[in-house]
Order: sequence, then C-alpha cells, then structure tokens
Amino acid sequence: MVQKKTLHDINPKNKHVLIRVDFNVPIIDGEVGDDTRILSALPTIKYLLKEQAAIILCSHLGRPNGEPNPKYSLRLEGDHLVNLLKMPIAFAENCIGAEAVNATQSLKPGQILLLENTRFHAGETKNNPEMAKKLAALADIFVNDAFGSVHRAHASTVGVASLIPSVAGLSLEEEIKYLKNTLGNPDKPFVTILGGAKISDKIGVIQNLLKKADTIMIGGGMANTFFKSQGYPIGDSLVEDQALNTARDLVINAGSKLRLPIDLVIADKFEPNATSKTIPSGPIPNGWRILDIGPETVAQYMKVIQNAKTVVWNGPMGVFEFPAFSKGTVGIAQAVAESEALTIVGGGESVAAVKQSGLTEKISHISTGGGAFLKVLEGSTLPGVAALQDL
Ligand code: AMP
Repeated sequence: MVQKKTLHDINPKNKHVLIRVDFNVPIIDGEVGDDTRILSALPTIKYLLKEQAAIILCSHLGRPNGEPNPKYSLRLEGDHLVNLLKMPIAFAENCIGAEAVNATQSLKPGQILLLENTRFHAGETKNNPEMAKKLAALADIFVNDAFGSVHRAHASTVGVASLIPSVAGLSLEEEIKYLKNTLGNPDKPFVTILGGAKISDKIGVIQNLLKKADTIMIGGGMANTFFKSQGYPIGDSLVEDQALNTARDLVINAGSKLRLPIDLVIADKFEPNATSKTIPSGPIPNGWRILDIGPETVAQYMKVIQNAKTVVWNGPMGVFEFPAFSKGTVGIAQAVAESEALTIVGGGESVAAVKQSGLTEKISHISTGGGAFLKVLEGSTLPGVAALQDL
C-alpha cells in the first residue's frame, strides 16, 4: 500500500478543516449506545483544536435512503460530543447548501461545527460529483478519520478527497498501520478466528487468509454451511445453500489449515430460553438448530490461540445475544485476551463481546471497522484511503 499523508503533513492553523468522522453508532432508546467510534475521533479533533483549526465534522448515520429523517439526525451524537469535549459545538441542519456555508463562514479557529447526516442526500452514496464539490467548498483541507467508512466510495469519503488537500486522521492512520503491518508481515504462527452469520460475506477473506494464515478457525452460523457442504444434515440451522459449492472447495483447498467446530450447542427453538444440548459435530436432528460452538471446540481453539504470535478475530461464534448461547464467543474473547500474541479484533459483534467481557484493555488493537476490516482481511483496496494524497 502506498504511504498516505497524515495530519503531520499539513499546516491547519487558521484553516477550515473538514473531518469525515464515523459517528454511525448504535442508538438505543434514544441515547448513544456504544460510543467507541465517537471516542476514536477525539485524538484528531483535539489535535486540530490545539493547532487552531476551524473544525467541520461530517458523518453518516444509518440508512435514511437519501432523505432527511429525524430518526437519523446526528444531533444526539453532537450532544454526546459536547459532553466529551466540554465545549459548545455548532450544528448545521444540512451538510451542504446555504445553511452549511453560512455556518462554516462564521466558524472561527478553535471552534467546532457538526454537519447533519451526509446520507440525507442521495448523492452521498452515489459519490455524486456535485455533492462532493459542495462539501469540498466548505473547507481548505479534508481529513478522513472514519475507518468504518473507507471501504465505500461515497461523496464524503472519496469524492471530496480528490478536490482539496486530503490526509488521514490519527485513528485512520493507526488502523491502517496495525492492519497493514500485521497482514503484510505477521509474526508466525498467525491464526485467525472467523465467525458470524454468513459465509458469503467472508469467502474473499478466507481465500486471502489461506495464503497468509497458519490456521483459520471457523465458528458461528457460517460453520453450518461448511457442515452441510460435507453432506451432514444440519436440521433447522441457518444455512446459505447458494454457497455450498464454494464452501466445499474451500475445505478441499485449505486442508488442515481450516478448522471446523468439533462439538456444538444445539437448540429446539431460536429463542433465548430454548431447550439446548451439547453434541459432537455430526448430523443434527430435524427441528434442532446449531446456535453455538461447544466447550471442546473452545478448548481446542484456545490451544491454537495460546501458541500463536499473531491472532486476528472477526465474528461471533454463536448467537451470543442470547446468554445461553454466548459461551463460545465469550470463551474465544477470553482466549484472545489472555494470549501473549499481537491480537486484533474487528467487527461490531466480536468487539461487543470483548467489551461485555471487560477485556478491551487486553487486546492489542480493536478495530472500529466492520466492512472495512473485512476488506483489509480480503486484501482489497480501500477506496477512501486510496483517494487520500500520497506521501
Ligand atoms: P455477522 O454480521 O455476519 O458477523 O453475524 C453476526 C450475527 O451472527 C450475530 O447476530 C449472531 O447472532 C449471528 N449468529 C452467529 N452464530 C449463529 C448461528 N449458529 N445461527 C444463527 N445466527 C448466528
């Protein structure tokens, strides 16, 4: 990957600096839930405040389908940021147009303005050049600090970056450094744990990791498709029938590198209080479904993790939202946290599992990206990073 310019390569004093942040955080009962992504933007915001820049923040939130919708307003995030920074923050109800222009014109160095959700305009996700031009016109410099959005070529990530000097923020810089260094030259043994619902999202990831990793351990719903591809009946388990041939080929190509669960927790319903039992991997009776990996699998995966020098984890091992089926995910979170290896965890659910278990401090790097994290594991280019200026 080509080296990109960062905050250290600009002189932001008295300049209007547009920062693309990732304030796409979960909203629970009208409040900001997990604020990790907001916190990750603070170092860049504080740095630019100290450097006396006039700071303009923009972000998307949710999927408002290109129209203003109060449900997806960034006001809540703005209030949260006021509490974190303990300073007033101006808010513009439109990220482009007269309102945004007026608000940026009256913005002084050392002040912050938050623009409303970029996805209130259809041009955002279409990377519409007019929208990009209007965003770029608000600022002298563009800083992308939204790792969670760099896999998307949108107006506020790629479009704007080609129009004014554009650099990486501190959080984006750290994500890229960690992920690039690790995947480019991992200390061996390099082991990865992949889970989550779907195999189709992760085929490219598995193919790329087969070239780099020593062991790939599979859990979660995606294991079911592997089992079915090998001819086991899987009862009422989640499966992706269209991915069966790919799953079969991956198992053949991977040989002993790819590990599947050796035991499973199955349930008679997809419910938190379902009747459950633990069985060795094999045929699943009709009416039952796989909802977690079993304790033997956790023990086996744990041993591999203990001997690793580099560990990358993405995706839960089961339906961890139901406490009865969270033991596999929590067990893996503990094993990764206890490991002496360089450990990287990415993707909303696995990061949530680490947090719920109080293990955040014990992980070398927690990535704020879900889709972007998978793109890096896949070895794909990130358009939002590619669009920044080369060093
Ligand atoms: P993903 O977004 O692909 O990482 O998938 C995360 C979701 O996968 C979580 O909401 C889990 O509840 C779900 N999941 C994990 N294992 C299973 C399983 N065995 N059956 C159904 N859903 C699962």
